[in-house]
Amino acid sequence: MDYKEIISSSINKNAADLKALSDWVFAHPETSMLEKETSAYLAEFFKQRGFEVETNLCGLETAFKATKKNGNGRRVCLMQEYDALPGIGHACGHHLIAASCAGAALALGDALDAGLEGEVVLIGSPGEETGDGKPPLVDGGAYDNCDAAMSLHPYCNNIYKPQWISIGGMDFHFTGRAAHAGSSPSDGVNALDAIVLFYNAFSVLRQQLKDGSRIHGIILGGGTAANIIPDDCTIRLEFRSPDAKYYYDIVDKVCKCADAAAMATGCTVEYHEFEPTCCGVLHNDILAKEYAAQMAALGIQESGAEFLGSTDVGNVSVMTPTSHPLLQVTDLQCGLHTTEFLGEVQTQEAFDRMMVGSVAMCNTLLRVLEDADFAASLKEELEANKPM
Ligand SMILES: [Zn+2]
Repeated sequence: MDYKEIISSSINKNAADLKALSDWVFAHPETSMLEKETSAYLAEFFKQRGFEVETNLCGLETAFKATKKNGNGRRVCLMQEYDALPGIGHACGHHLIAASCAGAALALGDALDAGLEGEVVLIGSPGEETGDGKPPLVDGGAYDNCDAAMSLHPYCNNIYKPQWISIGGMDFHFTGRAAHAGSSPSDGVNALDAIVLFYNAFSVLRQQLKDGSRIHGIILGGGTAANIIPDDCTIRLEFRSPDAKYYYDIVDKVCKCADAAAMATGCTVEYHEFEPTCCGVLHNDILAKEYAAQMAALGIQESGAEFLGSTDVGNVSVMTPTSHPLLQVTDLQCGLHTTEFLGEVQTQEAFDRMMVGSVAMCNTLLRVLEDADFAASLKEELEANKPM
């Protein structure tokens, strides 16, 4: 059976439905974790097309799962996204991610109907822009036991291993003891002093960070009145690193700086994440090379410009062999989240290019379903490179 033929004719056959889906999502922009209409629309789309659908996935109201299975083969995952940006709508092009993942799910579903063994799992994940969607879905087991996961992000170049870097943030809360700053300062324990020492400590550290890593933040609270020794002060920091493993080294070093500042001033310190950590995407090299070969077979080459961003796809990539390439939907060179990009993502050409990418993505995942040695090699590579 020529499953590649089934895949490409499926994408062609469903093109009008998929364009309608893309247009609908674009016309109903909903921001992170508030994608009620969109997730309901997409869940219904798969229900009507013979997929088993689970809504309210892992307790997330706007997350869902659509699956189709034949026999006992391997399982591949499509990471569908559909959230928009506040004020600027689908300027990150997630309506195209929704359409290309939907097209891929239908096409692989048709291959399963034609006798291919395996399972296709589409995870509809909300809140990519805030990083609130995939971390709890990963923790809840939504991506467990998948042999590979993929999705394509629209962009102005074809880049197969874009640098999606780790990002996360923590609040450091120092507690001291209040006292009158004029009459009895020696009775106080100064939490603002702890913050000053902490700020200086991690600032010194910044000079020796590896290239591309960042620590930045703001003081959220530095006391209540100038004549009271501050007893309750908080600083909020974000961390970034292109190296998923090194990211955790940075967090560890900064926490030690906080502990040291607390000890030096006699304060206590507590720290916790104020936003989920989005791991840098650990691209599976073997999977990326297969996608490159499948794109080349369709006449498309990598156009190779630099890219740096963050995405919660990283959290999937550290547990499942993952590829998350950028797909060129326009020749206009512009950044994501801009009005220029917004003007480029709703054309017929952008949609058509996305569908070609979707065929290449399906053919890549087809190899995972058909070729046991290939699938095993993806897992071996992941085990060798896991950051934690
Ligand atoms: Zn995006």
